[in-house]
Amino acid sequence: MRKGINIVIIPELLAPAGNFEKLKMAVHYGADAVYLGGEEFSLRNLADNFTIEGLGEAVAYAHARGAKVYLTTNIFPANDDLEGMMRYLDKIREIPFDAYIVADPGVLDMVREVSPERVLHLSTQANTTNWRSARFWQRQGVARVNLAREMTLADIRGFKDNLAMELELFVHGAMCISYSGRCLLSSVMTGRDANKGKCAHPCRWGYALMEEQRPGSYFPVLENDRGTFIFNSKDLCLLEYLPELIGAGVDSLKIEGRMKGINYVASVVRVYREALDRYRENPETYAVKDEWLEELKKISHRGYTTGFLFGPPGEEDHEYQTGYLRSHEFVGVVTERAEDGSIIVEVRNRINADDELEFIGRGMASHRFTLSGMTSEVNDYPLTVAHPNQRIRLRIPFHVEPLDLIRREKLDN
Ligand code: SF4
Repeated sequence: MRKGINIVIIPELLAPAGNFEKLKMAVHYGADAVYLGGEEFSLRNLADNFTIEGLGEAVAYAHARGAKVYLTTNIFPANDDLEGMMRYLDKIREIPFDAYIVADPGVLDMVREVSPERVLHLSTQANTTNWRSARFWQRQGVARVNLAREMTLADIRGFKDNLAMELELFVHGAMCISYSGRCLLSSVMTGRDANKGKCAHPCRWGYALMEEQRPGSYFPVLENDRGTFIFNSKDLCLLEYLPELIGAGVDSLKIEGRMKGINYVASVVRVYREALDRYRENPETYAVKDEWLEELKKISHRGYTTGFLFGPPGEEDHEYQTGYLRSHEFVGVVTERAEDGSIIVEVRNRINADDELEFIGRGMASHRFTLSGMTSEVNDYPLTVAHPNQRIRLRIPFHVEPLDLIRREKLDN
């Protein structure tokens, strides 16, 4: 008798792609899908978003490598924005996005009018906190809903118990201290509307106290010698709870951060890819590894929290000590391997000819290596130091691939 084959279904890993380079990184390190925005009508307007031509190229690049692309159109437009948005949707209608991410019912209506064949995903901005709300959106043609960040694990389970619909959940990245990202702070203080993707993050600024009758006299508010961290939520990290999320029926694990750098995208995707692949291999023996958690501490973050997954966040989920933490700094990207075995590196942060560097690749590949020289790419001239944007040649005794990253332990650790 033939033994049955046990197929383990794991969720999609969905990564941010704030520009083409970040998209390449996300795909290289194993994202199943990316989300990105055009220059118009996408939250995160300050990420260096894609032109219409760039959107087409991005989709072609990702599809050629088996990754899906979701377009964010999750702003809350005013009446005056509607005409321009319709024109924009019309211009991009031929680009084969795998889904449009929407938040506003009016935008949903427009996408359906212009591109009725498109799959629709509902953004976290729509604040879906219960399955009835999800069912409502499903009846409007939405295939997938991104759950509000204010959901517990029990809340998430309640969705699949009551309806068949794709669920997407943020598992990693910055937490906005307002309710699922709806906030007027930036709009009021800077004129930059967070609901149109222009948040200036004033929730993280320093503040002083002023008594009404004494304008101009400011009393410092200090939690420690570095200032105040009143709204400084730790970053979300649910890496340790992937089996629980899979068990609750989450179909897509989303990483926050279209404004973050390529090092962030690469490092986070790399770790979650590894965890998901190990889970798929054998869910019974799967266990999160300390080294994966350590990897996530090497990139810039604000400390980690599980957010609302196990109930309302408490004191420990707020970071009172500092702003950003990181133990490593990103110094370069491998761009090609030359025929003579040397590699070409695009420098992003000063590199010295005797630095100890770490090369990181897919599948948690990692090589530490102390340089004993480097040369310029152009004429192979020896260099003692290389500066950002310079292209250098290195000779290393192990295999790396284009798009692998190079980092170094931070000197002040
Ligand atoms: S100001 Fe802070 S809380 Fe408000 S939208 Fe921006 S990041 Fe979120």
